[in-house]
Amino acid sequence: MIKKLLVVLLAVVSATVSFAQKIQSPDEFLGYKLGTQFTPHYRIVEYFKYVAQASKNVKLQQFGSTNEGRPLLAMFIASDENIGRLEEIRHNNLRVAGVESGPVITNVPVITWLSYNVHGNEPASSEAAMWTLYDLVDPSNAQTQAWLKNTLVVIDPCLNPDGRDRYVNFYNSVHGLSPDAYPTSREHAEPWPGGRVNHYYFDLNRDWAWQQQKETQARVGLYNQWLPQIHVDYHEQGPNAPYYFAPAAEPYHKDLTQWQRDAQVLIGKNNAKYFDQNGWMYFTKYEFDLLYPSYGDTYPLYNGSIGMTYEQGGIGAGLAVVNRSGDTLTLVQRVAHHHSTGLSTVETASANAQKFKDEFKKFYDNSRTNPPGEYKTYVIKNDNNNKINAMAKLLARNGIQYGFGLANKSVTGYDYMNGKTEAYTVGPNDLVVNAYQPKAVLLHVLLEPKTIIPDSNTYDITAWSLPYAFGLKAYGIKESLKPASAEWSIAAPKPLVNTHAYAYVSSWSSVADVKFLAALFKKKIKVRYAEKSFDAAGKTFAPGSLLITRAGNDRADFDQVVTQTAAELNQEVTPLSSGFVDKGSDLGSDAVRYIRQPKVMLVAGDGVNSEAMGEVWHLFEAQLGYPITLIRYQDIPRTRLADFDVAIFPDGRYDDFPSDKLQNWVRDGGRLIAIDNAVASLVDKKGILLKKKEDKKDDKDKDKTVKIYGDRDRDAIRGMIPGAIFKLNLDNTHPLGFGLPDYYYSLKMNDDIYELFGGEDGWNVGTIKKDSYVSGFAGATAKQKINNGLLLGVQPMGRGSVVYMVDDPLFRSFWENGKLLFSNAVFMVGQ
Ligand SMILES: [Zn+2]
Repeated sequence: MIKKLLVVLLAVVSATVSFAQKIQSPDEFLGYKLGTQFTPHYRIVEYFKYVAQASKNVKLQQFGSTNEGRPLLAMFIASDENIGRLEEIRHNNLRVAGVESGPVITNVPVITWLSYNVHGNEPASSEAAMWTLYDLVDPSNAQTQAWLKNTLVVIDPCLNPDGRDRYVNFYNSVHGLSPDAYPTSREHAEPWPGGRVNHYYFDLNRDWAWQQQKETQARVGLYNQWLPQIHVDYHEQGPNAPYYFAPAAEPYHKDLTQWQRDAQVLIGKNNAKYFDQNGWMYFTKYEFDLLYPSYGDTYPLYNGSIGMTYEQGGIGAGLAVVNRSGDTLTLVQRVAHHHSTGLSTVETASANAQKFKDEFKKFYDNSRTNPPGEYKTYVIKNDNNNKINAMAKLLARNGIQYGFGLANKSVTGYDYMNGKTEAYTVGPNDLVVNAYQPKAVLLHVLLEPKTIIPDSNTYDITAWSLPYAFGLKAYGIKESLKPASAEWSIAAPKPLVNTHAYAYVSSWSSVADVKFLAALFKKKIKVRYAEKSFDAAGKTFAPGSLLITRAGNDRADFDQVVTQTAAELNQEVTPLSSGFVDKGSDLGSDAVRYIRQPKVMLVAGDGVNSEAMGEVWHLFEAQLGYPITLIRYQDIPRTRLADFDVAIFPDGRYDDFPSDKLQNWVRDGGRLIAIDNAVASLVDKKGILLKKKEDKKDDKDKDKTVKIYGDRDRDAIRGMIPGAIFKLNLDNTHPLGFGLPDYYYSLKMNDDIYELFGGEDGWNVGTIKKDSYVSGFAGATAKQKINNGLLLGVQPMGRGSVVYMVDDPLFRSFWENGKLLFSNAVFMVGQ
């Protein structure tokens, strides 16, 4: 007994002693020098957990988990005075921003947030995160302890754990006894899909604003509870590039303030000081611009922070690689560089803490009193509850305040759909967003109809305005008008009970309706669609409307299953007591088509654009809940295609296309959906009638132009479309256009366009005429080429069909309207 007590006492004493003991460095904890091995994610987590135990100046928060179940962590590091009042500091910061109301105090630290390893195969930064953490918590480090007096540091050690482990597991499984620095040796060639992306192959550094992935939803949720003054997003680039840090390259979005520009120089110069001391190469003001709102630098910038990207050369470099200049780049060096900029940034934050806080306050004061942009109120017309709901959800996730309806219903505003200023009567359930609010800048960037691009040489897409992405009518109004109500006045659809219907009807006009169809299929309910519009039960139903008839669903629980499924998904369904309709074709006519539940395969693997494939995969699994089989391209020859009804070819390069096999399958009733570059791969194949539209260049004139070598970057962009919006004419009587109006806004990423089908060859469903350009950058020659041609087409072939989608309708999963278009190709075409 006494012995036992003694053990307990000893344990207590040693715990107390260990608190005062030296904290282990990552090298000591891991048992190897940082950079001499790749640390698996779980070991990084263990080090962070260890420090959370060993240091009294930290708080570790798990704020989410990945698709593969790995934890997402944020470590808060603060002085003795501040660590016990993190919640006070957080609320105070939100009050300064005006996100919360209440009294503001001034003795608070500046908040610096360091985000590591968003791209899994840019792995040096998570190693550096451990070192940076150690330096910040090391009580014997007088310098960092002084910085923490007025600085709160947040470290997210790994934004993409699934991608990181994919890379690290690959590397550790292929390298030999010592690293091979030869650049084309196997350990520098990651297999498909690579570790850059998350589980569903999404680029998490393109997802900040859209928040389509669970990692982003969790992280931005936490981010918006804090709103740091400084945010760094850690990356790596090709192994030949020197280090990159702020200031960023043009274009900068015009809403960025002078201080946000100046602060990048301030921070960059301090980083440069250390790089100069060490003789390390670096560059600034080049390549990485500040426009597209969904990055780890721009998103924080549009939220009042100094958002920056830091890039070390190192993708594919393994532990060591010989670069173009003949030098050997090692992981040890890469880690040292990222460690240096981390500390340097905290140093700058501390040295200028008051200025960072003052300017942060000014940014939010301005947002609330003098918001940017011509329009002070945005009205989004509600002609589809599900779409409005989806858009409201996106605004809410970004902390943008909105409401519904206006007291004075008559307004005049800029009509997004036709570009004219028109009168409009606001409905009670129209989404209304007033620009005078804390998130005014982000709101403006996401909703302005045309992005102003001061310089066209950009890194990413240049147009994303939400009304086009959601396919919703919208008005920009110059007066500041407050929404009439915080909630919409639409009652949730009443669950139907005790009905004994001849059939049930559901709309087909958003991805929520597709989800309902998928749920019915799962419960083995047979569904039909109306090819033409019809009137029944006092309503008009549009083409594509889902019909769930008792006929064919001969089961006792039929009514119960349909009404319960509808209730679970909040889906409105209308029971019909008769198959005799008031106007249009009766339910038994051949205008009502049976939807055969398709078995779907998605082509994956080498040659396929993994992100494009991931968008389809994620849509089916995570959004629709519909089964899909992934088959590697090289395995198509040994796949029994008759087991599938639909084959999806995402963007990719398809060499040695198995034409005969696929063509026979289509002729037997298969449906091949080709997207983006897969369309180009099909041209000239046997049976394919689609033809590329070649641009008619006046070569004679072109030869005479004297090109200046130094202008070659600029010249190249004349033919470029880095992502611009074009308006298509849509044949919405064709199943591919069901549920959409007779137009469709497409995000064009290239200048591909095809000849219209002639005669019986195929259906020209989405076509483009002259002057179809809407927003974003399109080079002069490219703009000229996007004219009179086809972008969406269906070619019947035997009993099957080929669907051509020249632009990716699911791009980054934020082009909400494209999800319905794509679902039409899967579920409606060819039935
Ligand atoms: Zn990166």
